[in-house]
Amino acid sequence: KRIRTGPAVDMGNLAELTVGFTGADIAKLVNEAALIATRRGAEAVDMSDFMAAAEHILAGLKKSNRVLGPSERRIVAYHEMGHALVALSLSGADRVHKVSIIPRGVGSLGYTIPRASEDRFLMTREELENRMAVLLGGRAAERLVFGTISTGAADDLQKVTDIARSMAMRYGMIEELGPITYEPEAQTPPPGRDPRAIQPYSEATARRIDSLVQELVARVFNRTLSLLRSRREVLEEGATRLLAQETLTEEELLVLVNRVRGSDAEMHEKQLTPAAVA
Ligand code: ZN
Repeated sequence: KRIRTGPAVDMGNLAELTVGFTGADIAKLVNEAALIATRRGAEAVDMSDFMAAAEHILAGLKKSNRVLGPSERRIVAYHEMGHALVALSLSGADRVHKVSIIPRGVGSLGYTIPRASEDRFLMTREELENRMAVLLGGRAAERLVFGTISTGAADDLQKVTDIARSMAMRYGMIEELGPITYEPEAQTPPPGRDPRAIQPYSEATARRIDSLVQELVARVFNRTLSLLRSRREVLEEGATRLLAQETLTEEELLVLVNRVRGSDAEMHEKQLTPAAVA
């Protein structure tokens, strides 16, 4: 209410960008947007100012002095396009607001900003697997295109592992393990004692959990790989355009994906049905 906004500011769009923000986060966003508008000498705060502020908050500070070599840029372009394409192809996965190969923040060589259309409190097994597939999309694209893999996926793999282990140990989502929780109640072992001493299951079960978690991730990875393989054309074109213009907006991504959609629609449907996944 305190700032003057331009006519093009769309509150619905803004709300979608800030799902999960606290009141303080939103206040910060508004301040930041007003600052950006002032800096460019504008009379009113425009949608582009809000977008820039949101990106700033979401993805950390833009590191404009960081320069990637051409071969690294190529890897990052395919990696990020891999995330975006998987997200756009799977039902229930978050929409993609933007994909970029401009490095920002620590340890981030590019980024894909998902746009959640609603706050989620419950997720199904299929949705969690789709989320894992989106996270694995970067690594899968590298493997598909370059035949090799890079260190760029470290954060993604950490998140994938967390999801897979939670599915196995907390949510009882792995058939073979049954609807049982394997997570000990939060407690710290007495000083000097091995934390594993409070593990409420046998060593044999621990090994079984490990191997089922590995199987789950491997299955989702293979599914991600075949999805990208079937949409290789879009992957190539998206990465090429990312290399040329550094950033693709949601609209540009949708045009790209829809243009090539007709040809592989059948394949696409199969990918969406978890039961069809071997
Ligand atoms: Zn990634």
